[in-house]
Amino acid sequence: MTPYSSFKIGGQDWTAHLVSATEMKKLTGDATDEGLTVAMTQRIYIRRIKNKSRLRDTFLHEICHAFLGATGMQHQLEVGYKGENFEDWEESLIRIFVPHLATFIDDWSRTSTPPVTTHEL
Ligand SMILES: [Zn+2]
Repeated sequence: MTPYSSFKIGGQDWTAHLVSATEMKKLTGDATDEGLTVAMTQRIYIRRIKNKSRLRDTFLHEICHAFLGATGMQHQLEVGYKGENFEDWEESLIRIFVPHLATFIDDWSRTSTPPVTTHEL
């Protein structure tokens, strides 16, 4: 399976793969799942859909899972979590966060000059 994107998160090499509904069903057991992050193999799977903004939001959602795992934040959050189902809580957290992240990226990409670059820090 050829990745459509590769990147580093937390110093780890990650790849993202676009998959069909049939392939997603093999991965998760549910053909309607839109994304999957597998920390063990550092792979993100995104179900191929036509709606580009939804595809982008699914990718960002899975990227958030990858960041939480690869940076150790997931462990830190889990240690401090006082509820009954951490996975559901993490899912809710990411669903709240991603639309704001998407808006930030859209707004930022419209500006010709980023307000601060890492070269200036
Ligand atoms: Zn999720």
